[in-house]
Amino acid sequence: MAEATATQTPVVEEVKNCPTCKKPLKKARRYYRNGTYYCNSNCFKKAQASAKAAKAEASEPAEGAKG
Ligand SMILES: [Zn+2]
Repeated sequence: MAEATATQTPVVEEVKNCPTCKKPLKKARRYYRNGTYYCNSNCFKKAQASAKAAKAEASEPAEGAKG
């Protein structure tokens, strides 16, 4: 039987990018919030704002007659 050769991924510290501005995150310069690294608090706030808006849109309570 042929043995499947598993591709071993070398343990390399990959450079992650900021989810907001897509800039590469330097080891020393990064802003960790809610399990994600950003390049600074500004990008974190941006991401939060967009995430919040998306969430609100997805699970918005049916607005009936108000007032
Ligand atoms: Zn950024």
